[in-house]
Amino acid sequence: MEKAGSPLEQVRSSIAQACNRARRDPGDITLVAISKRHTAATIEPLLIEGHRHFGENRVQEAAEKWPALREAHPAVQLHLVGQLQSNKAEEAAALFDVIHSLDRPSLVKALAKAFDKTGRLVPCFVQVDVGDEPQKGGCPVGDLPALLTQARDADIPLAGLMCLPPADIEPAPFFAFLDKLARDHGLEGRSMGMSGDYETAIMLGATHIRVGTALFGERPA
Ligand SMILES: *Cc1c(COP(=O)(O)O)cnc(C)c1O
Repeated sequence: MEKAGSPLEQVRSSIAQACNRARRDPGDITLVAISKRHTAATIEPLLIEGHRHFGENRVQEAAEKWPALREAHPAVQLHLVGQLQSNKAEEAAALFDVIHSLDRPSLVKALAKAFDKTGRLVPCFVQVDVGDEPQKGGCPVGDLPALLTQARDADIPLAGLMCLPPADIEPAPFFAFLDKLARDHGLEGRSMGMSGDYETAIMLGATHIRVGTALFGERPA
């Protein structure tokens, strides 16, 4: 069956269906359109359709692309979904409205300092390495309680937990695990689910889904 409507309409409709099955309110799901490696020309149609949440994985690329786009669309909320180096914390604090990749003590310190200096207070998701894949970033599961305590002591606003499960394995158990960790630690947000699995993530409690390919097509190399 041919699907009707723009990619954004199709994704919104899939979100509505998943919410219906999960008996959840679609208003509780934030769709973050991951625009990494896409040009302004590809991003603009989504802005014109009224979409406001976008995500990038590199500070440098976001700093090159978004100031101009934001001038035309000031209500944009920009999310950082990639690994953040401590020496870029200040630039990230100035540029992004939500950070999904807080994952280590040195970054807690760097962000606390950056928030002091810039006068901004950016909500942060703590990224958890649910699949034991350190190369992807993320806090080891065993270190999570200490990292959360440290972040709270440093007055970092905590939005919730984020995960990027291993590719090519059924993601549902990882989503369920992140949901449980968030509940255990009294955190509201769950940033999980991408183009291939966001409906599953919604069934399992996602509040923020990060969708690139389903909205923009394949990324340029
Ligand atoms: C690229 C990226 C996504 C989006 O992936 P798609 O499969 O294109 O939807 C989501 N989360 C993170 C952290 C990413 O880097």
